[in-house]
Amino acid sequence: MVQAGLVLTVHGAQALQGLIRAANGLSVSSQSHSQSSSALEMETEAEQRMKRTQVLECKGERQANDIKIADGKKKSSEILESEAAMMDQVKRVRGVEAEASFAKAEESAMAKHIKSLIQFRGGPITVAEYMEEVLTNPIAGFYMNRDVFGAAGEFVTSPDISQMFGEMVGVWCMCLWHQMGQPNHVHLVELGPGRGTLMADLLRGTAKFTDFSQTLSVHMVECSPALKSIQQETLKCCPKDQADSTSAVDSQKCKPTEDQISQISGAVVSWHLDLEHVPRGVPTIIIAHEFYDALPIHQFQRTPRGWCEKLVDVAEGSGQGFRFVLSPGPTTASSLYLAKRMKWASLEEKAKIEHVEVCPSALKLTAEIARRVGEDGGGALVVDYGEDVMVSDSLQAIRKHEFVKVLQDPGSADLSAYVDFAAIKHAVEDEAVGSSAFGPVCQSQFLGALGINFRLEALLQNATEEQAEALQLGYWRLVGDGPPPWLDKDDDPKTAPTGMGSRYKALAIVSDACGVPIGFQ
Ligand code: SAH
Repeated sequence: MVQAGLVLTVHGAQALQGLIRAANGLSVSSQSHSQSSSALEMETEAEQRMKRTQVLECKGERQANDIKIADGKKKSSEILESEAAMMDQVKRVRGVEAEASFAKAEESAMAKHIKSLIQFRGGPITVAEYMEEVLTNPIAGFYMNRDVFGAAGEFVTSPDISQMFGEMVGVWCMCLWHQMGQPNHVHLVELGPGRGTLMADLLRGTAKFTDFSQTLSVHMVECSPALKSIQQETLKCCPKDQADSTSAVDSQKCKPTEDQISQISGAVVSWHLDLEHVPRGVPTIIIAHEFYDALPIHQFQRTPRGWCEKLVDVAEGSGQGFRFVLSPGPTTASSLYLAKRMKWASLEEKAKIEHVEVCPSALKLTAEIARRVGEDGGGALVVDYGEDVMVSDSLQAIRKHEFVKVLQDPGSADLSAYVDFAAIKHAVEDEAVGSSAFGPVCQSQFLGALGINFRLEALLQNATEEQAEALQLGYWRLVGDGPPPWLDKDDDPKTAPTGMGSRYKALAIVSDACGVPIGFQ
């Protein structure tokens, strides 16, 4: 691979700035007419998207940590969360009727499954096992059988909020491709693509830059069959041999195992259950947006008898439901993963932290990414909510855009945890294979560096009043902070959207041959 991007020279930096302006629709060229019409097409989408998402909350909003610790040590494990505390939270979050419906609710297939797992083991399971079952169990996992996104689903993400998000990620990929020396074949991988909206916006936004777009083969890493077929529709996929003859795609005819062609850009698209199945040996660009937060975490708590692991057990006496308990002493996970995480922590951090979350799957995935981009060339972009220090007690559940108890009606709510960006950086350093981590930087800084304000300007030029409003709201949600500045004193702040500009962060892992990726200088 050409090493031209080794150091981002002044010339290279200027070229990338030119690329950013062009990609955002600001180039002064004879293309202005076609750019306006493509902008218009996208605006309509933006408007529809805003209608779908309204002002719903995003996942990164952290819920108040109200886990209660019971003091009795009656059994081998310590009860952390009682049924009563769960009911209390439900009442606060969902209103009084929710109490009745929760108490009366039939036990779900997932709840039965978790119970039998606990019984089979002869004791409580780890939070990581609980999270993995709840989210990705093939029969009843939260993601597995339905569309959980958007206003009608459980939560919204940045690609749902604005087309500009996927477009900016596309600009980042295109800049990285330049820094990689413009290889003529690139694997573009997305981990956990949800509805496929980000990838669709990325492919649409970069389609006119054919030097780049024609090098791409797209690899979607997705465990959910339901989401895989939605992604096929979003990407307007059809089997290779039908690519020329159809314009409207009948997704029922597309067999998910076959390679498909996206009619958005003409790229070949294939699906994989994990990153390890994506072929090696080709320069690769990987995107992971709100993927790491869904990976299963272990939770540990400092106690007078040392660090113990938080576990999930069947609640006693109630006939249904679950509770958190503490292990009587160290566990396999505390000896392996907590010990590793503590080695990376500063003395000050270690002294004050009482709860720690560790995500071994995130560390394993990061090592795989670092190796892959180090050896094959390319880079990865991780965008998620999280912290650049050890994470403490952040596990949360969201159902229908509201926080609910983590153990309540498993499988019906999304579970996610803050991403420990500091651990990801250490995992890259530990791998030491010709790649390095950059960031994290906050989302507003990242999108700003990629020219989101230019993109907004370009889109506004052809927007109706309604479209302009939708675009501006989307822009503010992606880069703003706290409650919206236009909030009236009569508006309920609880139902107002919250800016994602600093809660969400971006981190890059790139091959050392690329130099510093754009947005991280
Ligand atoms: N990136 C999307 C969706 C994020 S939700 C967006 O921002 O809108 C998490 C996504 O990861 C879903 O598509 C889910 O099905 C997928 N997923 C979760 N755990 C996974 C795993 N272990 N392997 C593969 N895909 C997974």
